[in-house]
Amino acid sequence: MFFDNPLLKNWNTPYKIAPFDEIKDDHFSEALEKALAEELREIQAISDNPNPATFTNTILAILKSGKLLNRVLSVFYTLVSADANEQREKLMMEFSPKLAVHSSTITSNEKLFNRIQDLFNRIDSLNLSAEEKRLLEKIYQDFVRAGAALSDKNKEAMKEIQERLSTLGTKFSQNLLADERSWFLELEEKDEACLPDFLIKAAQKAAEEKGVSKPIINLSRSLIIPFLQFSPNRELRKKAQEAWASRGEHGEETDNRPIARETLALRRQMANLLGYTNFAEFKLETEMAKKPENVESLLLQVWKYAKERAQKDQNILAEYMANDGISDDFYPWDWLYYSEKRRQKEHELNEEEVKSYFSLDQMVEAAFYCANKLFGLSFQPVSLPLYHKDCKAWEVTKNGEKIALFIGDYFARSSKRSGAWCSAFQSQAKFPVSQKPIVLNVCNFAKGSPTLLSFDDARTLFHEFGHALHQILSNVTYEPLSGTSVSRDFVELPSQLFEHWLTVPEVLKRFAVHYKTKSPISEKLMERLIGASNYDMGYQTVEYTSSALVDLYFHLEDTEKDVMELQNEILSKIGLPEAIKMRHATPHFAHVFSGGYYAAAYYSYMWSEVMDADAFSAFEELDNPFDANLAKSLEDNILSKGNSLDPEIAYKRFRGSLPKVDALLRGRGLI
Ligand SMILES: [Zn+2]
Repeated sequence: MFFDNPLLKNWNTPYKIAPFDEIKDDHFSEALEKALAEELREIQAISDNPNPATFTNTILAILKSGKLLNRVLSVFYTLVSADANEQREKLMMEFSPKLAVHSSTITSNEKLFNRIQDLFNRIDSLNLSAEEKRLLEKIYQDFVRAGAALSDKNKEAMKEIQERLSTLGTKFSQNLLADERSWFLELEEKDEACLPDFLIKAAQKAAEEKGVSKPIINLSRSLIIPFLQFSPNRELRKKAQEAWASRGEHGEETDNRPIARETLALRRQMANLLGYTNFAEFKLETEMAKKPENVESLLLQVWKYAKERAQKDQNILAEYMANDGISDDFYPWDWLYYSEKRRQKEHELNEEEVKSYFSLDQMVEAAFYCANKLFGLSFQPVSLPLYHKDCKAWEVTKNGEKIALFIGDYFARSSKRSGAWCSAFQSQAKFPVSQKPIVLNVCNFAKGSPTLLSFDDARTLFHEFGHALHQILSNVTYEPLSGTSVSRDFVELPSQLFEHWLTVPEVLKRFAVHYKTKSPISEKLMERLIGASNYDMGYQTVEYTSSALVDLYFHLEDTEKDVMELQNEILSKIGLPEAIKMRHATPHFAHVFSGGYYAAAYYSYMWSEVMDADAFSAFEELDNPFDANLAKSLEDNILSKGNSLDPEIAYKRFRGSLPKVDALLRGRGLI
């Protein structure tokens, strides 16, 4: 039908990026069908090869297969998450179970698996390089964990589970997006009057997009959080906070609770089929943490200190509330408001004042500057047709050589999923041909003119850029081992580590420049900002750790209980303070239920944080955040290695030994 389907043609574009100006939504269906069929043919040819298995005719042949599918999917997944529309969502709903069946068809190909197993059994006699060995181990492990070694009957069961799980994951995301899209709060003049300028402007922009006349607060993080910080109207705060906290549990069509429950049950069945007691045990086997006990031990150690701190803070905030003449109990919708008041008083930090020093453009430049000083990278803006007019692209060079393309898609819009993430249209590899990374950072900053960021937003920008560096600096041979394809509890190390450079005085002095007066941030404001960087850490740690514990216990439990009942049981067992909610309650815990990536692995951020706190200390010990030798060691041992090296070995090569939890507790100011 589509003779000229641009998704199926060769892309003669710079960096072989997708020709977004030619691609129409109608092209995807045909392209996906063809790409699926092509990969099955390629796989068939490998498994039917009459010659005995060799590394080249089996493992490297697998790597050469599915290229078309990867290409089409990288475009499609980006569009459906960063710029969804009805047609794209429908396609996603239609294709996600098909894709799950497709993967199962490959992993359950017995002849193919026999070849892989045969090679794996003689791995030491194959004369492989360290990276080749790791590749073979990974492919073997992926097949086994997908059920390749199961009996035919169990393989069939596994296939059905995978198919259903992927449908559930897609539905979960779509329900959440629907809830986030539909809710908004119109601001009356009297409510507007007490809000800072930046928030009113952002609320006006949101109203424009929605086509309503009064400014609105919607469920974009960059609107709802400042609203909860600044609105003195307690009734409205309650309304807003409850809408934010109840995403995904509005009953009817978009209710995510039954989905979460079914997902947990299916994951448990899947783990049992593969011979594990529960899903957490299965999941953690290939992570740095290895066992659920190790995760629990880290989280509970931190939990104890975080709760103590949060309780002390709550008592202080309750006094602020009492001084306002309110004698009610202290509720979740009171926390951010009084915390902001306290922050202004104790640290003399005013969000509006701070934001005027953090324009988006300056912060992007700041991230580039650090990447240049640390790793010699340069960024040149380039003009390319991209998938949305808000996207910007930069060509990345090192020693004069083009090494990557970086794309920033920074503004919130209703077609975008919430949160921030880093993905790639193409990851770095040298086999079968050299392939340069095309990396994408997606954020949800409220658009303004200019766009001003909160300090937290700026931190998010640095975080995602840290992931991007992990991709850009990757220097491996095989794509499955490249860039961010490391274990989940290691993947947040480069991103969280990079956040530290935002608070380096040299960086702030240079880039935190007032958007109107162009004067750099004052020494005093900078000190106050850095001094307050651990402000309200009890609250933040409790919010996060309670979510991580619920995720872990969910995947350890063997029960058919209602998820909300189970969630509440876990929360009361660990003693979540009543004035704090989980950062992500179950019905909108997309990390865990939109797909399996962070399932039983939400703890990963904290696991990585133990390392990032310790890794940045290495620079502090030398009293030079840009120490050239240390930056080189970071690049050589960690950022360029992807998953070609065991993460524990990689870290030890950089730092000598693995850190202890104290590094994190000190970093968060909890001890
Ligand atoms: Zn991250």
